[in-house]
Amino acid sequence: MHHLIYFSRATQAFADQQLQDLLTQARLRNAALGITGILLYGNDQFVQVLEGEEQAVLDTYERICRDPRHRAVTLFANKAIAVRSYEGWGMYFHPMGPATLRELVGLVKPAELAQALLRPNLGQADKHMLQLLCSFVLPQ
Ligand code: FAD
Repeated sequence: MHHLIYFSRATQAFADQQLQDLLTQARLRNAALGITGILLYGNDQFVQVLEGEEQAVLDTYERICRDPRHRAVTLFANKAIAVRSYEGWGMYFHPMGPATLRELVGLVKPAELAQALLRPNLGQADKHMLQLLCSFVLPQ
């Protein structure tokens, strides 16, 4: 089992219907390929986790990278995993506020992620997202 996380920037702001279309397209294809994961969108930026068999994940990522709907695709993690984190989710979608996004993008260094979780003023959503990122990048 393999997983991959990337950040990217939407070429243009996505309207709700465009996001729906993207998710429908992604979920159909992911179901056929056995790929699960999560897609976060906020402030014209995406964070996506893809998990599944290695070749299927890498092929999907390659297609995603070529998609003109976004740019500046930056790979954040790409490694073998023992178990899926999103079993049952063809592609879970979660909208993200600017503050959450700043936390995520600004705190991608593993050591800082661990520290960030100790902050007393973290909201529940931010905490969950940071825990999620920690589980990907910090040794278990
Ligand atoms: P085709 O459907 O044959 O399309 C040809 C080209 O047009 C491709 O370059 C495609 O990227 C582009 N394209 C397709 N639809 C549109 C559109 N509405 N507007 C503009 N250009 C378009 N796909 C998945 O399978 N799984 C995912 O998890 C997934 N996540 C994505 C996350 C993001 C942030 C984005 C932007 C796209 C995602 N996609 C995902 C879609 C993926 O990029 C491909 O469009 C899709 O997989 C179809 O690939 P294809 O090569 O068959 O292209």
